[in-house]
Amino acid sequence: MLIVQKFGGSSVANAERVRNVAAIVADAYRAGNDVVVVVSAQGDTTDDLIAKAAEINPNASKRELDMLMTAGEQMSASLLAMAIKSMGLPSISLLGWQVGVKTDSNYGNARIKSIDTERLTAELSRRNIVILAGFQGVNKYEDITTLGRGGSDTTAVAIAAVLKADLCQIYTDVDGVYTADPRIVKGAQKLSEITYDEMLELATLGAQVLHNRSVEMAKKYHVDLEVCSSLERKPGTKVREVVTMEKLLVRGVARDDNVARVTIIGVADVPGMAYKIFSVLAAAKVNVDIILQSIGRDGSKDIVFTVKADQKEETVAALKRVSILENAIDVQVDDDVTKLSIVGAGMETHPGVASKMFEALFDANINIQMIATSEIKISVLIRKQDSDRAVQAVHDTFFAK
Ligand code: ADP
Ligand code: ASP
Ligand code: MG
Repeated sequence: MLIVQKFGGSSVANAERVRNVAAIVADAYRAGNDVVVVVSAQGDTTDDLIAKAAEINPNASKRELDMLMTAGEQMSASLLAMAIKSMGLPSISLLGWQVGVKTDSNYGNARIKSIDTERLTAELSRRNIVILAGFQGVNKYEDITTLGRGGSDTTAVAIAAVLKADLCQIYTDVDGVYTADPRIVKGAQKLSEITYDEMLELATLGAQVLHNRSVEMAKKYHVDLEVCSSLERKPGTKVREVVTMEKLLVRGVARDDNVARVTIIGVADVPGMAYKIFSVLAAAKVNVDIILQSIGRDGSKDIVFTVKADQKEETVAALKRVSILENAIDVQVDDDVTKLSIVGAGMETHPGVASKMFEALFDANINIQMIATSEIKISVLIRKQDSDRAVQAVHDTFFAK
C-alpha cells in the first residue's frame, strides 16, 4: 500500500514527539508500505515567525511573510528525517518546490495547481520514506508561497490524490472529529465517520481539525481520509462520501471567531448597488459570507455582511474605492462577533432544526444578530462574549444524552 501520513504542529512539537512520530512512520514502513509523510511546523513556530516579522516590519509583504513562514516546515521535515534515519531506516526530507508543488500567486493563501510526481515516485522506488514540508509551494515566478493557515492538511491530501495513495491519515492532538471542539465543549462525542460534505461545512465554519480545502480535494479525488491521534493508537474518524451511520439531523457544531460584521447604512435603493459593492470586494479577494439587505425606505437601504476579521482592513479599503458609496451615510465594522453553526445532512428533510437551535439560544438569553441557512447548515451571528455559552447550549440541545 501507499500511505500518506500528515503530522500537525503539536505532534512534532519537541524531540520526544518527533521520535514518537518517527516510530509511527517506521511501523507503517516496516509493514511493507510506501510512506510519504507531510509535516507542519513544530508547536507554535508559525505564530512565532509571524510575531518576529511584526517586530521588524508590521506591514511586511505577503511574499516575504511566506518566505519566512515556510522555514518552520523546513525545520520539522529535516528533524523527522534525521529521527527516522537514526532508527536505521532510509528517509529523505524535501521542500514543496523540490517535488513541484505548483501554486497560484496568491501569497499567504495560495491554491495548489499541480504537483509533479517524478521526484516523489523516484524516492519511493528507492524505498525511501519521503518527508515533505507541508503548507508550501512555488508559483510561476519561482517564489515560495503558503497555502493558508492549517494548509499542511491540504498538502497531504493533494499528495495522496496525485500519487493515488490507498490511505491519507491526518494525525493530530485529538483522536478524531467530534460533534464539537472537544477542548471547549463538554460532552462532545467522537464520530467514527462523517461525510465529505458535512466535514467540508464544519471545516469551513471554523472546526480547524481539518483545513477546508483538504476536504474539498479529498471529495474531488476520492481520497480515503482518516483523522487520528498521534498520541494514542486507536481508530480515528473516517471522512468519506457516504456513511453507514444513520443520517443525523445534526452532525456537529462549529464556531468561528475570525468574523467581522460590516454595515453600510444609507445605500441608494436602485438597481446595481449590490453588484457594484460586491464586485469591488471580490476583486480585492475579500471573502464575503452572510449577506443581508434591508427593505428600501425613502430611497435608501442598508446592506450588512460578514467577512473574515483578518480581512477587515482590506474590506474598508476596497469599500472606499466604490465611488457610488460616497452618499452612503456610514460604514461600520464590528469584529466583536462569533459565527456559530450547526451542520448535518439530515436537516434538509427535517423542518424544525432551526427553531430548536433558536430556542436553545433564547433559553440561554443570547441575541441573534444574523442568520444564514443552506441545505445542510444553519449559521447565526452572536456577540463574542456569548459564544462559549452559546456553543455549549446548542450542543446540549442536539447531543445531550
Ligand atoms: P494540527 O496542528 O494537528 O493541524 P489543529 O490545531 O489544526 O491541529 O487541529 C486540531 C484541533 O482542532 C484540536 O485540538 C481541537 O481543539 C480542534 N477542533 C475544533 N473543532 C473540532 C472538532 N469538531 N473535532 C475535533 N477537533 C476539533
Ligand atoms: N504551520 C502552518 C500553520 O500553523 C500550517 C499547518 O499547521 O498546517 O498554519
Ligand atoms: Mg491543523
